[in-house]
Amino acid sequence: MTWPFLFVALGLVYFFWKYPALRRTWYWLPRSGFVALMYHHIGILNDPHDEQYPFTITPGMFEKQLLFLKQHGYTPASEHDIVHAYQTGHTHVTKPVLLTFDDGHADNYTTLFPLLQKYQVPALIFLITSRMGTPGYLTWEQVQEMHQSGLVAFGSHTCTHRRLRSLSNDEIWQELAQSKQILEEKLGTPVVSFCYPYGSGGFDKQVRPQVFKAGYLLDFSTKKGINPWPWRGKKTILRAFPRGGETLWDYHLQLTRGRSKL
Ligand SMILES: [Zn+2]
Repeated sequence: MTWPFLFVALGLVYFFWKYPALRRTWYWLPRSGFVALMYHHIGILNDPHDEQYPFTITPGMFEKQLLFLKQHGYTPASEHDIVHAYQTGHTHVTKPVLLTFDDGHADNYTTLFPLLQKYQVPALIFLITSRMGTPGYLTWEQVQEMHQSGLVAFGSHTCTHRRLRSLSNDEIWQELAQSKQILEEKLGTPVVSFCYPYGSGGFDKQVRPQVFKAGYLLDFSTKKGINPWPWRGKKTILRAFPRGGETLWDYHLQLTRGRSKL
């Protein structure tokens, strides 16, 4: 018994030495909880070297991802589902997946919105108020139409998409409070979600309390991972980031590990 055991043990040592990726442990055990997915563009980009390529999911792949969610028992959750669970501590939603879209690109109306309607899937879009109606971005009319459908909620992604940590306190406050006020005027409903520009590098211990002081309930970062469910609001909401060119296997890893690629 000793020799085969020793042989296997030496083999394992060799493989862990030869392939350092095996030493990473994040993919060993799947996790469950509240998954927030971060998207930007839905569209077609053929050049993998384009800097927007990782941020662009083709409509065909996006449809496959929506079907994957339904086939594997996930619930496409709305912003309201997350807020309700947070405020009451109770929820009937199981395996929630919240689709979020950063920056408010025009294709969110032309390409994404018809797909959300086709599959009756909710989404949360983060808008940069100063870019509204500029080339490549959504208009207020499009935002209002999507909002009235009941499928799409909107959150703030600041007024000017600057790195909040590099701003003065007054400027941070303006980015948080003014964008919220503009959105609420245009939508006629409270705006409770906020997304930091530049994600994980975009906030710190000084910035985060101001987000809540400005009246937001949920703050989204680009830190990768899966969140506790029901959501309790102790940390920023982690997001998994499905990239252009990834497969459905990567998508499965995103949903169960909060990241893809070994
Ligand atoms: Zn952004």
